[in-house]
Amino acid sequence: MQEAGPGPGAAAGMSGGSGPHPRRVLVTGGSGLVGRALQQLVSEGKELPGEKWIFLSSADADLTNVAETRAVFKRCQPTHVIHLAAKVGGLFHNMAHNLDFWRQNMQINDNVLQTAHEHGVAKVVSCLSTCIFPDKTTYPIDETMIHNGPPHSSNFGYSYAKRMIDVQNRGYHEQYGRMFTAVIPTNVFGTHDNFNIELGHVLPGLIHKAYLAQKNNTPLVVWGSGKPRRQFIYSLDLARLIIWVLREYQEIEPIILSVGEEEEVSIKEAAESIVSAMGFKGEVIFDTSKSDGQFKKTASNSKLRKYLPNFQFTPFSQAIKETCEWFVANYHAARK
Ligand code: NAP
Ligand code: GDP
Repeated sequence: MQEAGPGPGAAAGMSGGSGPHPRRVLVTGGSGLVGRALQQLVSEGKELPGEKWIFLSSADADLTNVAETRAVFKRCQPTHVIHLAAKVGGLFHNMAHNLDFWRQNMQINDNVLQTAHEHGVAKVVSCLSTCIFPDKTTYPIDETMIHNGPPHSSNFGYSYAKRMIDVQNRGYHEQYGRMFTAVIPTNVFGTHDNFNIELGHVLPGLIHKAYLAQKNNTPLVVWGSGKPRRQFIYSLDLARLIIWVLREYQEIEPIILSVGEEEEVSIKEAAESIVSAMGFKGEVIFDTSKSDGQFKKTASNSKLRKYLPNFQFTPFSQAIKETCEWFVANYHAARK
């Protein structure tokens, strides 16, 4: 369990919530890609005075287990929760394990939300994803369209489980007046991602493959046609926005956290960005025997822009460069 706050005197605020830490922010999934970006911002001093942040990993509690979930809430006494913990994976991991993604995420989400309710937590911000939207839809997708039709078949387990968070949030609000809300990020990437080639998402997978191709003097193999399109958000930008949602956003309805539609890139363009950042000089080939998955899930960030018209996203090429440099420098310790 990682804690961050203004020093040892902070412990006086641990139990009552009225001491020097009236706000105790518990981050589930605090050891993952998004959780580590939040940790970085908090350690750089982005927390407000009077906030104490606690970052959980699965070693602190298996959140599929209700007793362990209750025990960790009892220990931490959160007033606010950022709920990131989830079974997460790229297209190919989802395709092979839809049932596991459904069951584990349903268990984690029900345990976390119900335990937060039992503890009278003032606000919960959970994490959905743009891949949960209907596959057959008009574009751009917006926040009103989550339940309008079946998600893409490749990750139906993960998608339906995530959609249920929105259903539960509305239920806790209607029945108990709770402020449980959710954010909907597009594809996230950054340092501390899961760079496992079989299990992870496209960017960490391609960064790892480019690293090995460079080392072994072999081609870089991009799976699928390279034609599908994605909006990518850098984990540090997402973390900044999640902190804003925690502090300022007052709606139960979720909010899409995304770069603009014009920033959407093809998988081929994303691969080219990685090739350039890694200085890879070899051949790039496309293995079209592998699935393309959902062609696109172009999301509108109009709602976000109404709230934060001036928010600056890190340019994609800069964020890719920082992520590649981190991976190379941390190759032995990185999750892979
Ligand atoms: P990640 O890097 O895979 O991290 C997952 C986190 O959840 C880890 O801290 C992990 O703990 C924890 N966790 C998993 N199973 C758990 C369990 N049974 N009990 C307790 N903790 C458990 O995921 P991420 O990419 O940061 O994703 C964070 C959130 O963003 C998720 O809700 C995800 O659905 C959402 N999201 C991600 C993306 C994306 O592209 N990555 C896109 C949209 C939305 P350990 O480290 O101990 O395993
Ligand atoms: P998605 O956005 O939920 O579909 O998940 P991913 O992040 O796994 O992206 C999948 C897209 O990237 C598909 O079009 C894949 O064909 C393509 N892709 C290309 N190379 C890779 C790779 O090495 N790993 C993964 N996961 N996807 C890849």
